[in-house]
Amino acid sequence: MKMSKLFVQTLREFPSDAEVVSHKMLARAGYIRKLTSGVYNYLPLMWRVLKKVENIVREEMDRAGAQELLMPFVQPKELWEQSGRWEVYGRELMRLKDRHNREMCLGPTHEEIITSIARDGLKSYKQLPVNLYQIQSKFRDEVRPRFGLLRGREFIMKDAYSFDTDEAGLDKEYQNMAQAYKRIFERCGLDTKMVQSDSGAIGGSVSHEFMVITDTDAGENDVFYCEDCDYSANSNHAISTLVEAVTDGGYEKAEIVDTPNTKTIEELCEFLKIPSTVILKSLVYIVDKKPVIALIRADKEVEETKLMNAVGGIDIRIATAPEIEELMIEKGFNAAKGFIGPKGMDGIRIIADNTVKDMKNFVVGINEADKHLVGANLGKDVIVEEYADIRLVQAGELCPQCGKPLKVTRGIEVGNIFKLGTKYSKPMNAVYLDKNGKTQPFVMGCYGIGISRTAAAAVEAHHDEFGIKWPLAIAPYHVVIVPVNIQDEKQMEVAQSLYEKLLANGVEAVLDDRDERAGVKFKDADLIGFPYRITVGKTISEGLVEYKVRESGVQEKVTPEVAAQHVIDAVKAL
Ligand code: ATP
Ligand code: MG
Repeated sequence: MKMSKLFVQTLREFPSDAEVVSHKMLARAGYIRKLTSGVYNYLPLMWRVLKKVENIVREEMDRAGAQELLMPFVQPKELWEQSGRWEVYGRELMRLKDRHNREMCLGPTHEEIITSIARDGLKSYKQLPVNLYQIQSKFRDEVRPRFGLLRGREFIMKDAYSFDTDEAGLDKEYQNMAQAYKRIFERCGLDTKMVQSDSGAIGGSVSHEFMVITDTDAGENDVFYCEDCDYSANSNHAISTLVEAVTDGGYEKAEIVDTPNTKTIEELCEFLKIPSTVILKSLVYIVDKKPVIALIRADKEVEETKLMNAVGGIDIRIATAPEIEELMIEKGFNAAKGFIGPKGMDGIRIIADNTVKDMKNFVVGINEADKHLVGANLGKDVIVEEYADIRLVQAGELCPQCGKPLKVTRGIEVGNIFKLGTKYSKPMNAVYLDKNGKTQPFVMGCYGIGISRTAAAAVEAHHDEFGIKWPLAIAPYHVVIVPVNIQDEKQMEVAQSLYEKLLANGVEAVLDDRDERAGVKFKDADLIGFPYRITVGKTISEGLVEYKVRESGVQEKVTPEVAAQHVIDAVKAL
């Protein structure tokens, strides 16, 4: 490709709505162009990257025994009613009507469609196991589309679905997919961690996410991990053993005391001269539109996904001040935030974290402004019927497997694997005939990879202040050849012959034939992120060119032949 012909407009500035590096750089370097919120044009450079990621995914999925198909992007409501998700899938599901007033949706994922395909096409145990996948655009009307390709509304996903006769078969395929995912991300030049994660309210299911670990703002997930063993988990699923703490308040009897202006835990600790570990904190959440009270030892935080799962809901948020006020009025109290407690909350679901179990003679709100009950005890002053682990793990707490302190880091979820079991096959009546001629529901798994998110995550993981440093395997082109002065015949002749030689050897090369200053060409080369640059300048009179590796910044003067061979060898080794 000649640079003068390459369809790319680099921008002088980063777009003003770009918050994270990958969005800034992909937009500025001319890879993507926003069409509307969360929807992007993939321009030629981007499309080359995406196709490379897709091809790696495709090769590894095929190698793992999966078969590719392609399902429609538009889906009928009926199938979603069969699975029961038409009602519960929130506003991320983009619903529309056709000219006959039939309701449809844009596919955010394809469990319903694939299950109906299996239902029609897989009749006997003899046809199992099967793993089917596709690579396709998805649409989710995300509440907060942001970070460019990392969280778009339209994005490209690889989604695979496996069908087995039993759990043992599913376990095997799950491992098979985990291995395939490791190879995929390794080949994409990405360091990933496979972490345990939440799998929603369906009990007993297992799921893992593949996280690109990053210290940039783009990491939307906290990952807790242990350096001494292999434990790692998303914060929505992580568990820990607590470090010893004082949980007995030492009060000799229960009594109501005045605690003026103690709206925060810190203020209450200060006022009563106690550690927060002897305070029982009460928080009001709204789960599926209904209030729920969460109780937890006050030095800890509630993990919302865990609480939502404990309640069995699908949507959760903390209550607003007016909602708390309304609840108080309804129950006949006059307290506000800071003084809330479980007392007198009949009819409201109360869930206590396991940390509450060990507390004695503690301090708790009683729904009266500027007052607390001190010396309270479970069973007497506070009645708890439901306990669950709803606690957000904190770094420094102990690994549940080996007892060493846990660490925390941020990650971008690029893929996940999920044991679905019979979640879809049962309600959709997707069954096969077993050896005894009995009908059985398929035991399913599903496996997703965000193709466009993976490409953007690669930028988060590989860049510097000047631009992108693509891993060779997914770079739009492998090398750029820069003649410093295109008027110089010798320079152009060497550059041209290098270019031809590289192309002839299967290298994807760009010749920067623009009549621009060398500085401009170098800047563009760094921004676009070509893994290698060969500069043909004045030293060509001594038979030397400059060979530069983008990732390491290493540059050396070598003959054109040596430079070409370096690149050819690197590409061959892919
Ligand atoms: P997230 O928690 O980030 O919203 P998810 O759990 O909703 O992800 P899945 O439904 O499991 O994601 O989708 C599979 C993969 O698709 C994810 O691992 C991710 O790589 C990608 N993905 C999901 N949502 C988006 C999005 N809005 N934009 C880009 N990629 C996405
Ligand atoms: Mg999501």
